[in-house]
Amino acid sequence: MLIDSHVHIFPEQIAAVAINRICLQGGSIPYADGTADGTLKKMDEWGVDKAVVLNIATNPQKQRKINDAALRLRSDRLLPLGSVHPYAEDALSEVDYVAGKNMVGIKLHAEYQGFDLLEEKAQAVYQRCQEKGLLIYFHSGGDLAYPGSFRTSTERVLEILHNFPKLQLILAHLGAFRMWDEVYRDLCGTSACFDISFAHSYVKGSLFLKILNKHGSEKILFGSDCPWQSAKDTYDYLKSFNLPQEDFELICSGNAKRIFGI
Ligand SMILES: [Zn+2]
Repeated sequence: MLIDSHVHIFPEQIAAVAINRICLQGGSIPYADGTADGTLKKMDEWGVDKAVVLNIATNPQKQRKINDAALRLRSDRLLPLGSVHPYAEDALSEVDYVAGKNMVGIKLHAEYQGFDLLEEKAQAVYQRCQEKGLLIYFHSGGDLAYPGSFRTSTERVLEILHNFPKLQLILAHLGAFRMWDEVYRDLCGTSACFDISFAHSYVKGSLFLKILNKHGSEKILFGSDCPWQSAKDTYDYLKSFNLPQEDFELICSGNAKRIFGI
């Protein structure tokens, strides 16, 4: 089984506009059209059985709308996470709403949401997530659309792990995009899980293996970041390492089943 832990789907009526805008910002070409139907077709083509759908509340006023749209996607193959905006007045009650709807966690993206990882309002959200048993999936490290910005740095993540020891963090892009030496130094061996999205285009095989071996295959998740990357390229990259079958299966599906309760 193959579970893609990092997929984005947009509401039908805004998918084309949203994808064009983000691709222009990041200088990339999309691999899917960003709709639910289009993504499911691509998943069939790439051999992906299930996907975890990540949403980002980019506007404090729209978090409920975004969470309700995410909930409508829920199906046998799609597992949506919620999102809250740390600057929303009702951010903490929205965490409760997400938990009440049995979503397993929220996605946060400090660049898209414009907050500082360690500011009080953000830490209050982490605290509430820890209390409610919700995981937090962070965009981590650099972002092609925000050159030079590294709001989710390994040092700040370490501080969150220290402050919230029971909080399950998942860090996109193999721990932190374009900060992989720091990931190896600071984050390998912590309780955070890393997805492997974007690694195939940017991380040398030798460094990928160093990170994998130090961190442990039970904390690595298969994730593509579709539509910005393809699950097939991500899969081929992972396959090229000829990992022991047990490790390969953990990364492809076993860890996702355990962490997301799939
Ligand atoms: Zn993403």
